[in-house]
Amino acid sequence: MPDTPDWQNSTFLKEVERRSGTPVSACFQCHKCSTGCPIGPDSDLLSSQVMRMIHLGQENSVLESQAIWLCASCEACTTRCPMQIDIAAVMDSLRMMAVEAKVDLPNARGEQFNRSFLQSVRRNGRVFELGMMVAYKLRSRDFFTDAEKTGQMLAKGKLSLLPKKSGSAKEVADVFRRAGEEEKKR
Ligand code: SF4
Ligand code: SF4
Repeated sequence: MPDTPDWQNSTFLKEVERRSGTPVSACFQCHKCSTGCPIGPDSDLLSSQVMRMIHLGQENSVLESQAIWLCASCEACTTRCPMQIDIAAVMDSLRMMAVEAKVDLPNARGEQFNRSFLQSVRRNGRVFELGMMVAYKLRSRDFFTDAEKTGQMLAKGKLSLLPKKSGSAKEVADVFRRAGEEEKKR
């Protein structure tokens, strides 16, 4: 889509701002977010490029990108942005939009990992690494990558064999329940 003078009325931009609760339109392309992003060198898009493409209404390109699934939600970008744009929240919103739109994901494993992680946190109130890895392997059908490291970590006692529930498991489950209710309202 061309860069038009009325880009601030882009439907995609408005929807991303509504979902993330942050002013993406305030981005002035200083690139401070991208220079602090740990996945930038391995990603198909930098975070500042994602912001600009949202301005331009390039919905398909953004939702089909690897960048939104490689994002580690570390919030380095959010803390660096001089316009107080919560870029990590934008990435979260974009992932949800991609799932809802049933986009053909370039990196389905990112989405599978995400689901396995959230499932583990929902059940235990925190991540149970071994259970999450098993769930991810079953989803991705990738049984052998890192298998050797898993054995080494188990041997060194770095991974628990059984889940330990967080003392805040009920509160965390409540967060998931409320998030599910909010999703249904959309
Ligand atoms: S939250 Fe995502 S986009 Fe932002 S710096 Fe971290 S990995 Fe990069
Ligand atoms: S740091 Fe903020 S203003 Fe600068 S490019 Fe990134 S999102 Fe835009």
